[in-house]
Amino acid sequence: MNPNGQIAIVTGAGSGLGEATARTLAAKGARVAILDVGIDRASTVAAAIGGIAVQCDVSSGDSGVAALAEVAERLGEPRILVNCAGIAIGVKTIGKDGPHPLEQYRKVIEINLIGTFNMIRLFADRAAKLEPLQGGERGVIVNTASVAAYDGQIGQAAYSASKGGVVGMTLPVARDLARSGIRVCTIAPGIFRTPMMAGMPQEVQDSLGAAVPFPSRLGEPSEYAALALHIVENQMLNGETIRLDGAIRMAP
Ligand code: NAD
Repeated sequence: MNPNGQIAIVTGAGSGLGEATARTLAAKGARVAILDVGIDRASTVAAAIGGIAVQCDVSSGDSGVAALAEVAERLGEPRILVNCAGIAIGVKTIGKDGPHPLEQYRKVIEINLIGTFNMIRLFADRAAKLEPLQGGERGVIVNTASVAAYDGQIGQAAYSASKGGVVGMTLPVARDLARSGIRVCTIAPGIFRTPMMAGMPQEVQDSLGAAVPFPSRLGEPSEYAALALHIVENQMLNGETIRLDGAIRMAP
């Protein structure tokens, strides 16, 4: 789908990979709704790219319904959804200092996995009713998993499970939505230079960058955004999860 003139939703777009994707889609002529739980962050990005900021907690059904209705009212019906909202907090090594807190585990699953599915189901319900574009296409969805889905590290039991769930649902959801002319792909990023990573000590960031076989550095958010744009534009890409990680395979 050519994003020019289309309406796009990017979740978690107040920061990091989502912000870069919102900027890239806007530069290609899309009108972008910046959805984020943090409305201040969302408003700053929206002002910079001429989009709209909408507060949304992707893990809440009601919040998702209200956000999509607001986007439709203010911009029109979206045909592009990029799911970038996610958290990596709450990691705690299992088997240390007593039982792992279930609440932390649930929160990561609620936002990263159920939140992604929540936005997919609400977006798809509306997009399926739109007039088809070229080739019968009505919409396109890009999700964000992580290499942690395949290669989880110490303390990542919840995060890896949440991202593994996103990888696992990509093909069945693509097959479900194919009859509606809606494509679904997932990007599994390696390690990218975003605020999520900025919390790590510099030496850890450096060693992670050095562990990337090529190009031996952290990824830039613009490189994620370029792949998200490619998925939007390339009608043959469907049901696929693409690793974007410089071939990193991490030792535990
Ligand atoms: P980030 O922390 O910079 O941005 C995430 C954004 O999501 C924030 O603006 C935050 O407010 C928003 N958010 C959090 N919970 C939300 C909720 N419930 N509803 C709506 N918005 C919410 O992180 P990032 O590095 O840009 O990560 C984006 C996505 O990419 C995440 O899903 C993350 O797990 C994934 N990812 C990141 C990396 C990396 O190296 N940065 C690697 C692999 C996967």
